[in-house]
Amino acid sequence: MTSSASSVVSARNLCLTYDTNDGPVHALSNVDLDVRKGDFVSFIGPSGCGKTTFLRVIADLERKSSGDISVNGMSPEEARKTRAYGYVFQAAALYPWRTIEKNIALPLEIMGYDGQEQAKRIARTLELVNLKGFEHKFPWQLSGGMQQRASIARALAFDADLLLMDEPFGALDEIVRDHLNEQLLKLWKQTNKTICFVTHSIPEAVYLSTKIVVMSPRPGRVTDVIESTLPTERPLDIRETPEFLEIAHRVREGLRAGHSYEE
Ligand code: ADP
Ligand code: MG
Repeated sequence: MTSSASSVVSARNLCLTYDTNDGPVHALSNVDLDVRKGDFVSFIGPSGCGKTTFLRVIADLERKSSGDISVNGMSPEEARKTRAYGYVFQAAALYPWRTIEKNIALPLEIMGYDGQEQAKRIARTLELVNLKGFEHKFPWQLSGGMQQRASIARALAFDADLLLMDEPFGALDEIVRDHLNEQLLKLWKQTNKTICFVTHSIPEAVYLSTKIVVMSPRPGRVTDVIESTLPTERPLDIRETPEFLEIAHRVREGLRAGHSYEE
């Protein structure tokens, strides 16, 4: 298949159908999408439209039924073997019996880094997510927002260029979420990562993204791809500007169009 050199994720006619006892579920249908290096791409759409499935296909946790998908120009399987991505789950998914430091160390242990290299990487990522000083705490001693930051640190620890984030802030209250959104943007700029980010929130998608992918269910498909015109410098009050509201409006229209199609 053809994909430009700067394409981190490239999908063409990508389909995935789950076989269930109630018959086939078309989770992804003819998805065409390019994620370029350094993009911050948000996936937004009602529950069941295939957002998680798409991230899981990129991560080689699900296999496509047909079409093409490449990650860093390779198959998802090859990309997984080269540790092409870090994955942040909806729930922080930290092990309660391990300290924050030991949670972040886990993937590094599996990859065989020595103790000194582990310590260096742990210190660096904790600094990136503003959790310096919490390395010896257990997850349950941290707030929900801090736990999610720890799980971002774990995904960053082996320094993959691509970060896959599935509704990482969905369970947090709005004030904490605002704060984490600001921090995540900073982190993205500092590290030059490519980020694929799933969310239910229109303001979150518009605030964070360079590109917004609007999806719709049954069958799961892409109904709109919006290239953001917002500047990269984004204070939180950018959300009250006409430009921001215009993009939010287009996302809302895309979501609505997806629904009327279904009913
Ligand atoms: P989203 O993340 O957008 O809520 P998902 O990707 O989780 O959507 O799911 C898309 C569709 O596929 C839904 O209808 C869901 O019920 C179905 N689905 C997801 N995972 C499985 C699975 N392992 N087996 C069968 N059906 C699944
Ligand atoms: Mg999901």
